[in-house]
Amino acid sequence: MKQAVLSVAAKSGLFALARRASAKRLRILCYHGLWTTPGFQYGDRLFMPPAQFEARMARLKRSGYPVLGLDAAVAALAAGDLPDNAVVVTIDDGWASTHTHMLPALEAAGLPSTVYVTSWYVGRDLPVVNKAVDYLHARAGRPAVEVAPRAALIEALPPGDRAAALRDLSMSLGIPLDWWEGRQFHSMTPAEVADCVHRGMDVQLHTHRHRAAPGQLGAELDANRACLADWTGLPPAHFNHFCYPSGEYEPEAEPVLAAQAVRSATLVDQGTNAPDANPYRLRRFLDGRSVSDAEFDAYLSGALDVVDAAAARLRRR
Ligand SMILES: [Zn+2]
Repeated sequence: MKQAVLSVAAKSGLFALARRASAKRLRILCYHGLWTTPGFQYGDRLFMPPAQFEARMARLKRSGYPVLGLDAAVAALAAGDLPDNAVVVTIDDGWASTHTHMLPALEAAGLPSTVYVTSWYVGRDLPVVNKAVDYLHARAGRPAVEVAPRAALIEALPPGDRAAALRDLSMSLGIPLDWWEGRQFHSMTPAEVADCVHRGMDVQLHTHRHRAAPGQLGAELDANRACLADWTGLPPAHFNHFCYPSGEYEPEAEPVLAAQAVRSATLVDQGTNAPDANPYRLRRFLDGRSVSDAEFDAYLSGALDVVDAAAARLRRR
């Protein structure tokens, strides 16, 4: 249904119309990581195949939309001098595949990007527990209801015991450790984070432990910033853009971000951003395996906002 609407919209000139109407709105793309383990893949929006990411970046480049760095785009949006139809590329979490596969693809396309890095897992030879447990259950065909309690049990162990527990779980489900050896659910190492910066990728804040509950955010930002500064050699004040972990926004976060001189914060809510947008509530487009080229093009043109608004009006009737 959505594909049909988008195809009609593209052919009828709606995309061109939307492009003009939304020219001054900032588009922000959101990615996570890539499927670098051969074989089994699942899910829609967390990981996509490397070839799909490469094709997307080449498509973005060919589109002719200006792709800006996050800092320049946020400043230009607020100042009202954003180039027409400007786009920013953001990547969440700091998965190992960001360094091994996404960075080379972005370099090949000549595109700037920002990666929001959660620091706790960086430098630990430990996959992100909840994502690894979810994957193992999906790959083994086990019921999804087993995932949360199993992940909670492993996360309750001392950090030094979690790796062995995950390996044991993989073996008990009959799954070889190819996913571990390929670092499918590992974060980047400190050296890889530093190399991202060295090669021109912007590294920014995503909390230390991927949590930002009210009352925790200030300390989480301090710890995250201290790690990033240590690994990259950049001054702590360089890290002044933030992405809410899991997109969880609380109004209480805004004064904490302001007190820490953070200049922008991104959500996973879909949309483009008007010149008067609240810089602590920037909307993005969560790209993923199931997203078609037509839908991707529709977001970049601004038409997806129009189609979504029309669909919401229809639902309310
Ligand atoms: Zn995240």
